Amino acid sequence: TEFQVIINKIELGHELTKEDIIILLNAKEALEVKTLFSIADRFRKEIVGDVVEIRGAIEFSNYCAKSCNYCGIRKGCNSTKRYRMKEEEIIEAAVELNRLGIRTVILQSGEDDYYDIDTMCSIIKRIKLETKMGITLSIGEKSREDYLKLREAGANNFLLKIETTNREVFKNIHPDNDYDTRIECAKWLKELGYVNGSGNMIGLPGQKIEDIAEDILYFKEMGIHMIGIGPFLPATDTPFENLPPGSVDMTLKAIAVTRIVCKNVFLPATTALASIDPDGQRKALEVGANTIMLISTPEKYRASYQLYKNKNMVDIKSAIEAIKNANRRLPKYLKLTEKEEL
Ligand code: SAM
Ligand code: SF4
Repeated sequence: TEFQVIINKIELGHELTKEDIIILLNAKEALEVKTLFSIADRFRKEIVGDVVEIRGAIEFSNYCAKSCNYCGIRKGCNSTKRYRMKEEEIIEAAVELNRLGIRTVILQSGEDDYYDIDTMCSIIKRIKLETKMGITLSIGEKSREDYLKLREAGANNFLLKIETTNREVFKNIHPDNDYDTRIECAKWLKELGYVNGSGNMIGLPGQKIEDIAEDILYFKEMGIHMIGIGPFLPATDTPFENLPPGSVDMTLKAIAVTRIVCKNVFLPATTALASIDPDGQRKALEVGANTIMLISTPEKYRASYQLYKNKNMVDIKSAIEAIKNANRRLPKYLKLTEKEEL
């Protein structure tokens, strides 16, 4: 069969074309899907091993100047209570993660200019000074100059998802964003020496399987190191509130193919996947994923960072459970108390 021809190509170490990837993503028969997943799992094991990398995310502000149609903290959304963490609170949350032994912290927010570049640089420098952790930023589009300043202050990685490589779909979901600008930002980040993170959503309105194949080739061509693939999930009080969520199966197939195509990359078992399926992270870890992001936003703010309905607040316990159920190993750097190990 067509499918078998592509499996042979993979085993021979040949590069996959867009058409090949589409056939893999279209796999429906149980045996084919199982074959795809087991190859991805083997690649994951051979390339990055059994240890699951754990990172902590601090969602420090849910104010946003933009109105992405899918997002529960978009500017026009009135159902969320807005908050901004103070510099001290952010440092404290980072120090707490460091105490757990975590080595990389992700600072994420809406596009919120309240934190000007000097403030962000000061936060980055202080986290570096007090914890020596790697710092990932996920704060949206900025000028090249700003990306440079943040990099010089000590930021190591930057997560800016392309969301979709289909221009029409991109335009339809992003009233304030321009596709070419987004690509330019990704290029700047790369030039400036950031470890580059991207990703997409599965199940966006108008998105086709071909588009997902194109996304995966884009991640490869751009040399993306951290690829967050999650289902689109409807959010309250947004234009996409009543759209159906993306498919778990398609998300898992996209993760598997991305591992096979992009090889040595960080592939998170995303929060969105954990939100639509309580067992979603375990499933992702078994088809190529190797990273989990703990939500480490202080309790009092957590519920307000509601990107979509029923967001799962992935904590250390649920992360450990997913890792154990997937027969994988916890990183040695984790320092858990007895309570957390239960
Ligand atoms: N504002 C920054 C940005 O857009 O890059 C960072 C924060 S934004 C909330 C982080 C990610 O959340 C986006 O890249 C998007 O993929 C994801 N997200 C937002 N709304 C979502 C939804 N309804 N379903 C799934 N993922 C969503
Ligand atoms: Fe703002 Fe990011 Fe949400 Fe878009 S995806 S509305 S930029 S927080």
